[in-house]
This record gives sequence, C-alpha cells and structure tokens, in this order.
Amino acid sequence: MSDFYEISQGQDWNRIKQEIFFIKAYDVESALDKDYRTLDDFFALLSPSAEVYLEDMAHMAHQITVQRFGKIILMFAPLYLSNECTNACIYCGFNRNNSIQRMTLTVEQVLQEAMSLYQLGFRHILLVSGEATQKVNMDYLKNVVEKLRDLFASISIEIYPMSVESYSVLIEKGVDGLTVYQETYHPERYHMVHGTGPKQNYSWRINTPDRGGIAGFRRINIGVLLGLYEWQIEAAFIGLHAEHLIRTYWKSHIGISFPRLRPAAGGYMPEYIVNDKNIVQLICALRLFLPDAGLVLSTRESSWFRDNVIPLGITQMSAGSKTAPGGYTLSRDIDGQFEIEDSRTPEQVVKKIITLGYDPVWKDWDVALI
Ligand code: SF4
Repeated sequence: MSDFYEISQGQDWNRIKQEIFFIKAYDVESALDKDYRTLDDFFALLSPSAEVYLEDMAHMAHQITVQRFGKIILMFAPLYLSNECTNACIYCGFNRNNSIQRMTLTVEQVLQEAMSLYQLGFRHILLVSGEATQKVNMDYLKNVVEKLRDLFASISIEIYPMSVESYSVLIEKGVDGLTVYQETYHPERYHMVHGTGPKQNYSWRINTPDRGGIAGFRRINIGVLLGLYEWQIEAAFIGLHAEHLIRTYWKSHIGISFPRLRPAAGGYMPEYIVNDKNIVQLICALRLFLPDAGLVLSTRESSWFRDNVIPLGITQMSAGSKTAPGGYTLSRDIDGQFEIEDSRTPEQVVKKIITLGYDPVWKDWDVALI
C-alpha cells in the first residue's frame, strides 16, 4: 500500500497545472453532468473555465450537502496549549524568531480555559500547540486529555506530527481527531517557507494523516494554507490526498480545511492572492468531487463571508476563537498565532446559523461503553 508521499512523488506538477489551465468549457459541462466525478472532473471544476458555471456548481454543492449531511453545522473551538515552537514558518506568529511573549499552559490552566468553552456550549474541542516537544510532550498531553475527556464528546489535536505508536497512545487516552495541514504541497515552496526546524521534513509531514489513519483516528482533517502557492494546484493535491485517505482509511471520516493566510506577528504577506470567489469555487468543487468529506471553515474568514458560504457545503465551523494560549480566560496580552476576522461570540454565530435555516450541533457522537 502506497503512502501519500509516494503518491505525490509520482505526480507531474507541470502536467497538472497545464491540465487545469487548458480545460475547456465542454470538460466542465461534462464534469457537471456526472453523478460520480473523477479526479479529472475535479480538475475541470477548479479550472478558470469553470468560473462561469459557479452558480450551477453552488446549486449542486448545496443539494449534495443537504442530501448527505442535512442542514447542520458542527460547532468546535480551538484551545491553544502553547505558543512555544522550534520552527520558523515564515507566515506564523509563533515563528521561533518572533519576539513575542511565550507560554505553555499548565494542566490546571488548560482545564480553566476548557471550562469556559464548555460553559459556552462547546463539546468538540481542538487542542492546538506549536512544536514544543520538551513541554507539550506525551506525559503533558495524557494529563490534559485525562482532565478533559469527561467534559468533551470529542477531543482533537492539532500539534506537531507524531508516530503511529504515539497516536495510538493518545487515542487510547480519549483523543479521537487529528488535524494536520500540509500548508503547501509544492515541495520547493514548502522548503522555502519552512527554512529551519523539524517541520522542514516534507515527507514526514505529508505522511502524518496516513499515520493517523493507521493509528485509527475517527476524524482526520487535512488542509493547505491558501496564499503560499497557486490555489488551483494546491486544491488539486488536497483532492488527491483526501481521495487517498478516504479509500485507504475507510473507518476515519476525512475533513478538509482551506485557511487563508491572515496577518500575524512577523508581517509575512501572501505572495499568491486567493479571493472570495476562488474559495467559493474551491468549496463547490470539493463538495462535487467528495460528497461525504467534512468541509471546515474557521474564524479566519469574515462573518459576512462565513454566513454566505454555509449553504454551499460547509459542515463544521469554529466560533469565538482565541489563537493565544490562555486567550479565553487568562490573558489578553499574549500574541495570537494569527488575527481572526470573525469576532462574533459563539452565541451570535449560532443565532445566525439558525436564521439561515441550519441546526448548530454541539455534539454528534458518544463513545459506546461496551
Ligand atoms: S505554523 Fe506551527 S510549526 Fe510553524 S511556527 Fe507556527 S506553530 Fe510553529
């Protein structure tokens, strides 16, 4: 069985790029006419030629999402454990070269932060950290999860990539979800923006979702950071990656995020502009290609944009997010990982979701005690 690194090495970037940019209107129409779409159809839907079909794509994406998921939005919130990091990703506020105040929450502080999210209604929580393996180590994570697992129906992690064995330990402790973004699939761009630190290891990172699938996470969420390379090509690879994971780890539910670069300490400016229309096209193309994939939208996007794309295929949203450790209850002075754009409270977001005719879902599963 091939892992995704092997699969990605077999791809010809220039061929994929040419294919996407030379697609004709009849290829888009043919992709739209099908009930089940191939990777080539997905490329057609990502192409510049598909832009004039955006209204049709949006209509179909909405119908498929309602058919597969109903009109629901699963709510979750990130809880930042630490902003310490040994990497120097040029786009990130936690880059080790940035002069910001650093902190790693104690287990008691994590619990305090978690309680405030619990009181707001959240039952799905995402634990986030920089790559600070000295402090956010296995013992620390096990202690944190032990404190949180009775409060939350779902605990996911978005921390540094780990081995299958380490993931198995965390699953055993009560973690059910793994989020890991490749940031960019383009190997040269990847090395350019990750100049130093363990994150330089492209193959180790790109195979992290495979290791998560082998370990048996119930949810695996992948993504790219839009703005690091041409969005259509990144999208082609994320489709390829998600398709591989869905086929190989059929017990895991695969989700996709498409965060856009936001201002952060360090002042990095995106070199590739991704506008709202591009993201709408991406959401619709993903839904038409992968009808059962979760599509996740964070508070990086504006309230106006988030409200408008809900009907297109979004299934999970964060709300009221703080991107600094201690941001909910401890300190307002610690720098966040990036600036958020939708600053509404969870209550305001939920009201809007209901107004749009959707049900906010705080919890969608329970562990069966056998
Ligand atoms: S993106 Fe993650 S790994 Fe990179 S500097 Fe930020 S926290 Fe560290």
